[in-house]
Amino acid sequence: MGDAPYCSTWHIAESERMRGRALSIRNLFPFVVLLITALPWRFDPAQTAHAMGRSPNLPDKIRVLIVKSGRHVPVKHESTVMLVNPDTRQSITRAGWLDAHLTCENGTIKVGGLRTGLRSVLIVPQNSRAFLSVEGNRYRGAIRATAVDTSSLSVINELKLDEFLYGMVGREIPASWPAAALEAQAIAARSFAVDRIRMNAKKAYDILANVTLAYGGVGAETPAVRTAVNRTQGKVLFYKGAVLPAYFSSTCGGHTEEVGAIYPETGAFPRAVRCNWCRDARFFQWEAGYSWREVEAAMQRIGAARGAVRSLRVSSKTSTGRAAQIEVISDAGRKQITAHQFRSALGVDKLRSTWFSMQVTGGRLQVKGRGWGHGIGLCQNGAGNLAKQGWSAKNILQRYYPGAVIRGL
Ligand SMILES: [Zn+2]
Repeated sequence: MGDAPYCSTWHIAESERMRGRALSIRNLFPFVVLLITALPWRFDPAQTAHAMGRSPNLPDKIRVLIVKSGRHVPVKHESTVMLVNPDTRQSITRAGWLDAHLTCENGTIKVGGLRTGLRSVLIVPQNSRAFLSVEGNRYRGAIRATAVDTSSLSVINELKLDEFLYGMVGREIPASWPAAALEAQAIAARSFAVDRIRMNAKKAYDILANVTLAYGGVGAETPAVRTAVNRTQGKVLFYKGAVLPAYFSSTCGGHTEEVGAIYPETGAFPRAVRCNWCRDARFFQWEAGYSWREVEAAMQRIGAARGAVRSLRVSSKTSTGRAAQIEVISDAGRKQITAHQFRSALGVDKLRSTWFSMQVTGGRLQVKGRGWGHGIGLCQNGAGNLAKQGWSAKNILQRYYPGAVIRGL
């Protein structure tokens, strides 16, 4: 790669503070560059994990989709980065400063003015204590930009699993909760993530940020969360000999749900349990109302109805009393949809769970419900209260995943 595109892409950061730092480093830069480019350089996150004495069974990294489809994605780094071809793992540029937009041109990635000619590019920081920022949010590890069509791209954050947990635990539950709750959440989330990493090995990413799991990057970290993750390092839940995909949800509403009610493809999973500890949660009980026009539009959108909707009813329930199937009668006739399709169509943040009853009054659909989320596995609000009562992370996990054991990977 010649000097011209290199210089047009990488440039000194703009702020005064950065300018001072950059100028002093720039004097040394030709030598640093020579050293780096003289060595055959390969990106291998596994090396760091093994150097830290971690178990080789623990996945080296997790791939988190943070931008599904963007056209001009601003990226910046606090120090220097390298661009790497993910297929060969060889660097395609020397180390340089980064403050540019990622774009996609004819199905290949452009970094600022640099045309890489590649469908996918890894941006790898040279200093693990300096962070990349994407659309203004800071992230640990590397990022991978991949063309999704001729003119837009996705961005995946590739980082160590525990670094991901640093930015995830405090987004799932308040970081101010007792250590036992943070530790229980860290172990459950690590187990869930390990299962996802194994399941999605052949896919482009493992987790969709803020859909599969909440994730805020470095901005969501706190010292208490990092301590909880570090204290539980390598620990995951096993059930009947396999790593447990340890589902969890915000508020179970008094009883957790059987996994088969929503994820029937899941293997062995602990039974649902009663929970007496989420009663003071905001959405232990809730109500929601919809105009009939909203309901009709939602049912038509998912293909559950055509024309006018004449009636709606819960036609079957799961073993814990939640809705399983909803019968929709419209001009198109009678149709059964799952309660989860129904919930998604009416908005998961308004119809907060599938534990509800419905009534039609005055041309409106009135819903009374319990809990927030699917209700499977650990109840986060219950776990928070148990931790406040002095329960340990181990006891909390055993309560919500009966029969599961905590083991190192
Ligand atoms: Zn609960």
